[in-house]
Amino acid sequence: MISKVLIANRAEIAVRIIAACREAGLATVSIHSEVDRDSLHVRLADESVCIGPAAANASYLNITAVIAAAEITGADAIHPGYGFLAENAHFAEIVQECGLTWIGPPPDAIRAMGDKANARRTVTARGVPVLPGSSEPLASREDAVAVAEGIGYPVILKATAGGGGKGMRVARDPRELKQVFDTARHEAEKAFGNGDVYLEKYLTAPRHIEIQVLADSHGKVVAFGERECSIQRRHQKLVEEAPSMAVDAELRQRMCDAATEAAAAVGYTSAGTVEFLYDDGQFYFMEMNTRIQVEHPVTEAVTGVDLVLEQLRIAAGLPLSVRRRPHMSGNAIEFRINAEDPVTFAPSPGEITDLALPGGPGVRVDTHIYRGYRIPPNYDSLVAKLIVHGANRKEAIRRAKRALGMFVIGGVRTSIPLHLRILEEPDFVEGRLSTRFMERFATRE
Ligand code: ADP
Repeated sequence: MISKVLIANRAEIAVRIIAACREAGLATVSIHSEVDRDSLHVRLADESVCIGPAAANASYLNITAVIAAAEITGADAIHPGYGFLAENAHFAEIVQECGLTWIGPPPDAIRAMGDKANARRTVTARGVPVLPGSSEPLASREDAVAVAEGIGYPVILKATAGGGGKGMRVARDPRELKQVFDTARHEAEKAFGNGDVYLEKYLTAPRHIEIQVLADSHGKVVAFGERECSIQRRHQKLVEEAPSMAVDAELRQRMCDAATEAAAAVGYTSAGTVEFLYDDGQFYFMEMNTRIQVEHPVTEAVTGVDLVLEQLRIAAGLPLSVRRRPHMSGNAIEFRINAEDPVTFAPSPGEITDLALPGGPGVRVDTHIYRGYRIPPNYDSLVAKLIVHGANRKEAIRRAKRALGMFVIGGVRTSIPLHLRILEEPDFVEGRLSTRFMERFATRE
């Protein structure tokens, strides 16, 4: 059993996990860097330990310091949130070797899905469709060109260790492929310490549709239906919704079956997300994220299931509280509110001088900011998530406009005006989405 959870993260997700722990009656320990002393997750946890200076490498990514914080405070479990150490199999192993409960999937499952080329091979063996591409890392430019000949252009090069949209390069012909091959390898090496790249067919205007799964340690895997995350900038999601306008009951069943197969293939437990691209009636496995995701609340809104609470139950060895896929009720949309310029997208850290959070029917805000809080420049710019829920998509959109219009964040620039513009776009209103949606807001940078 678990009694005290250390949250190896910061900001809104740390606050979200503290909330689930409180409901579960568990004590909480937060960790923080020197610049995060005044963060809400520090105030809300029962205890907090400063684990190092601002630089993530010296604090939130410092495994020794995180483990020491758990030992000093007598925590018996660690929840990694998303980002930082969440998908680090080595860290998960150390947590377990130290006799602590890891609130996440088995380290081997993280490793199997963390290598994207390996993940492709694993799910293919289970009959899950993938885009045509290379199943092994590419040895050379010539190798890349030979593989691309076989599948046809355009192609996309991806880092096998990839994540966060880094290390990806599109090529439209052999000449371009040769040009970008070294850049992609170099970028992958720099970002992930591993320069291996593979390639697959590039779809020019697909939808990004993903399936939430939960699996317990008793062999039960439940798929929770889809989220559509096609509204992205530089491969980073901005707006997510559930259900997707493109998915009917039959397609949902097929995608949920594929996601369940993918999870079962690696002996998955805990919460995870199987990401697909969807184009022209077909869906293709892209990768599995072996953690709770930023956009998990839209699934919570339409299913009524607390996914983080389920993670705690699963880690404690309890069975899933849901036996089969829950019905999705109404429509939910999440807007990522970043402290950045809504036109140029330049980060806008600084002090929050004024704050009024929207509320009322169908509105949820997950955030760590408060009036007087100073957003440090050291981490990502997500400051709040607005999640709206309505009986149907039209109602969800009306609630989104109302809530964004009543959302006051003073002192820094935010993406709220951008979201209000997105809501006015006929393609958004009609649900005509693809990963190219944001190109209409492109700026010269
Ligand atoms: P990361 O792990 O870096 O986030 P993903 O593999 O999840 O990378 O891809 C992120 C995004 O990149 C997708 O949501 C999609 O917009 C785009 N993308 C990835 N692969 C392809 C592809 N084969 N064709 C078209 N777009 C792609």
